[in-house]
This record gives sequence, C-alpha cells and structure tokens, in this order.
Amino acid sequence: MSAKKKRIAFFEFGDCGGCELALIENAKAFELLGKVEIAYWLLLGKKEEGPYDITFAEGIVASEHDIHNLRKIREKSRILVALGADACVSGIPGLRRFANKGSVQKVYGNVELEQKPIENIGPLDHFVKVDYVLRGCPVNGSQASKLFELLVEDITIEQGEKSFDYVKPRFSENNVGRAIVLDNEKCILCERCIEVCNDIVSALSIAERGINTLITPPFRMNMDASSCISCGQCTVYCPVSAIYERDNVADVYRILSSGKPVDAIVEVETAVSIGEFFGLNERCHGMLVDALKRIGFRNIYLSRSKNRAKFLNPKPIGRLPAIIPCCYSAKKFVETFYPRLAQALTQPPKPSFKADVWIGPCTGRKIDGEMTVLTTREVSRMIRDYLTIKYIEFNELEDVNFDDVELREPEVGRRVIAEGALEMRQVLDKASRGELQGSVVELWACPGGCNAGGGQYKASEEILVRRKEWSDSIGSALWRTRWWVRTV
Ligand code: SF4
Ligand code: SF4
Repeated sequence: MSAKKKRIAFFEFGDCGGCELALIENAKAFELLGKVEIAYWLLLGKKEEGPYDITFAEGIVASEHDIHNLRKIREKSRILVALGADACVSGIPGLRRFANKGSVQKVYGNVELEQKPIENIGPLDHFVKVDYVLRGCPVNGSQASKLFELLVEDITIEQGEKSFDYVKPRFSENNVGRAIVLDNEKCILCERCIEVCNDIVSALSIAERGINTLITPPFRMNMDASSCISCGQCTVYCPVSAIYERDNVADVYRILSSGKPVDAIVEVETAVSIGEFFGLNERCHGMLVDALKRIGFRNIYLSRSKNRAKFLNPKPIGRLPAIIPCCYSAKKFVETFYPRLAQALTQPPKPSFKADVWIGPCTGRKIDGEMTVLTTREVSRMIRDYLTIKYIEFNELEDVNFDDVELREPEVGRRVIAEGALEMRQVLDKASRGELQGSVVELWACPGGCNAGGGQYKASEEILVRRKEWSDSIGSALWRTRWWVRTV
C-alpha cells in the first residue's frame, strides 16, 4: 500500500505574497507539490480544515485576528515553517512600528478599521512555537524547495541543519565607468546614492527584488552610457564605499616605476583639505608636497581651476551665451540634457602646466583621460599607505614649496556662474529661452563648487567654510609656503 500523502497548508498574514510565488517558480518545488495533498492554499482555492502535516506561513502578525488565527493554525500543524523575512523577523511591514501615528490619520482620516492593528506586531515566533525558519525577501526558491523536500520525505533535519543560510547571490561584475564604479556586492541598499543623484540627474535606481535587489542605472546600463555625469556626489555619501571613484593609485605607481620623471598638478581644493584625512586642523599643503616628493614625483605644481575659466575668451553665438563647462561633469550635463546648447560649449579649461598626474577634488576629470587622475581621497590613501610602510607620521613631514604656482587673476566681464545641477538647470533654461544673450556662462557640476567636489571627503558646513576661506586666501601671508601670482 502506498504511503499516505502529506497534507500541506499555506497561510498568509500581512505581506506581499512573494515567498509563495518564489516557491512555485522553483521547478523542483513545483514537482514536489504534485506528491502532496494540498489542503489549504487560497492561491489554489483550497480551504480544507486541518490537521496539517506541514504548514508554511508567511507574513507578519499585525492584528488580534491574526494572533487568533495563527494560534489555531499552530494547534492543527505538526510542523510550522515561517517563510520569508516578514514571518521570520517582521521585515518591511514591521517598520510601521516606527511610523508616526498621526500620519495614518492624516492620510486616511478617522476611518474605523475593520481589524484593530496591534502595537506589538511581529514575526510568527513572537506568538507561537515555530519549527523552521527560512529567511529571505523573498525566500530563495531552491533553498525553500530543499527544505520542502526534506520535510516531505521525512528526512530528519538535525539541529545544525535547521537554519538554511541566507546566501546573497554574488554580483560577479562591478559596473565600471571611466570615473565611477558600482559594486553591488558591497552595497547595503541604503539608497542614499539614489537620493543624492535624484537631485542631480536621477541616474540610479533600484532594480529586481528580494535577494536579487541591486542599485543600477536604468536597464542595467554601464555607468558611462547612463545619464551619470560622474560628479561623484554619490560616492561622498555611500556609507560603505560600494559606489566609488575608479581607483587610479596603481596606475600612478606604474608611471612612477617607469623610470621617467613624473610631474603632478595639485588643485588648491585638495591642497587645503589634505590635513583633514590625517586629523590636522591646519594648512598642510607643504607637507603634501613633501609626501609626494618622497613617493617619487619630480615637480609638483599648484593650480586653481576656479580661475582658469576666466582666461578663456569664448564668443557668444547668436542668442546663445558662450558656455564654459568648468569641469567634465558639467560638459556631459549640457550634452545630455541640453543638446541644443552644445554648439555654444567650449572645452573645459585646462591647467597651463604639462604634467602626468592631476590631483584634485573632482571625479569627473577621470572622464578626460589626458592625465592620470587622483582625487583628494585617493591621494590621501596613497600617502597614508606610503607613510605607514616607511614608519613616518604625517605631521613629521616637512613644509616644502610647490615647484610652480598657477593662480592667475580673474578677468572681469559679464559672467553668469552656476554651481550644482539645480543652478545649472536654472541658468541653462534661461539660456535656452535666449535670456542670456551676450553672456558667458560658467558651469560647475558640484553644489558648493570644487571645495565640495565628488572626490573630496564628506564635510560639515564648518569645514566647507574653512576650505573656502583657505582656498580664497591663496597668495596671502596666511599660507606658509611662498606664493606668487603668475602673469599670463
Ligand atoms: S556620479 Fe553623480 S551623476 Fe553619477 S550616479 Fe553619482 S551622483 Fe549621480
Ligand atoms: S549609497 Fe552605497 S550602500 Fe547605499 S544604496 Fe548606494 S551604493 Fe548601496
């Protein structure tokens, strides 16, 4: 006589129903369903009374009614499995514990709820004994089918096997752009990058669901093919460096080891902020020069991007202003979102020095490819690692002069300046309407300018003010090393 088929039940509390779908979608589990008697499963229109041999329950217990039902289910079930994040740990619906109570009333008014929500909403094992838990949002179909198989076949599951590890799929390839790299393996899905970028160009979004969820530009495009302008602002806010600037430190070491003399240009914004990484609340640009020389650079030049645009003398075209994109991110912004204005664009202004490596506050410069680029963050790490192996503290470095300085005086003219995506949009909208005829427009992609660039460390308002004061004071006696203003 054939063995009696196991009676199986599926119950759902407060959730999206994704876990039962994940189970059905798994071919192995689907096959197993043919070997059991499905006694209760609303999805299939089955509503038979217990007892049940194996009960799968998903969702969060959120009302007195739910608690009552769950207790009855427990009494009728030989084995109870909590399926998915909501049933196991109260998942997303459990976040309502932290919700502002007044907001429900504000949205729905004084409605009488059919089922009174309870305060202590929670996972199943807050209310009844649970035999097995299978986590995931939704559960991993193959793990669920494996557990299902073991239970159906009455294979003893030892204590150690009771928990099926939550295995995050490995995102085998990073999304690598010329300037920005996105590593979903590290990502904790906090969505800060999305929030930041939504104020810029909305290049990032969330895709897939459950354990396959990832951050990506739309349609999983490469960062460069997307609307990302490589401004790097997301990299400043990512708490785990899952989105970061493409690291060129190894490239710089390769150039240095070639035996040829290697010169570097340092932008003022990096020079004024380098001490922050080493915990020094003072101007440390001379020590930066010393560190770079010890690492192997020949000449170190100081330059200031803020002043360079003033020496371009572009001509407005017809009703359009002349548009100087002061960084590569601003250039891509115009080309992507205001293609009609691209005819009025100049190239981003370049330093007058010839050098192999550019060190500055900007990730967007990596798009250019003419020089190898290190951001402030990369050069800080490079110096830290070098000093560590040499047993030198940063504050033991000497105060060394730059080899040459390019800090040209600005010209005066009818200029319109925009910093950050919001201002750039406002100015470019005006330009599109012909309201800036005869002007010269200067665009900077980062809100707050280069001192708050995407290659800088995250800074408080106070630090940003200090960076600005220090960079504006270049050439004054406040700077320890000697300065001169180079005439063009
Ligand atoms: S680099 Fe800038 S544009 Fe690109 S994803 Fe990050 S914030 Fe958005
Ligand atoms: S900020 Fe970083 S951790 Fe957060 S979602 Fe974006 S890439 Fe992931």
